[in-house]
Amino acid sequence: MTQSNDTYKIERTCSNCGHNDEIVVSKTDAAFELVDIDKVLGNACQICSSSSFTTTYQRPDLDYELLKEWATSPDLSLMPQDEELLLADEKYVDMILQVLDTISIPEHKRDLLIDALCIIVYDNTIDNLQPNDILKSRVINELNKRQDKLKLADNWIMDYIKKVVYPQLAFGRQNAV
Ligand SMILES: [Zn+2]
Repeated sequence: MTQSNDTYKIERTCSNCGHNDEIVVSKTDAAFELVDIDKVLGNACQICSSSSFTTTYQRPDLDYELLKEWATSPDLSLMPQDEELLLADEKYVDMILQVLDTISIPEHKRDLLIDALCIIVYDNTIDNLQPNDILKSRVINELNKRQDKLKLADNWIMDYIKKVVYPQLAFGRQNAV
């Protein structure tokens, strides 16, 4: 695991002359792309004045510290879109549950975390060459324990996910009678 005082690089390469610049940013700045390198270095290449660049970010692994920061800050995003797909990964399940159960977070972030759990169940039910049944059962069990939160997230979760996931949940079976 990375330390919070680690630093990360953002590199910018001029598409015209190949001149390369880099700046060093904090873990939080790197994870959430909070620093605009063009603002730091200026909009034009120092060598040829071109304003066409390729930028690469060195990104920290998502750990509990970052997830907590993301979850508690309405404005922070991990990616411009599809955060729930990024979070729908076995390695994040423990962190997601810990954030859901121990921290007060904005509604939208809570819905995204619940959605990510549903997507894990979906991914391991449908279209998966190597479904992980142990993971699926575990996440189903965790969703069953958090039905209040799931109901609040209902509008957020895509219908095709619900269609596959809800019938596998305890309330789904009850309601189906
Ligand atoms: Zn240049």
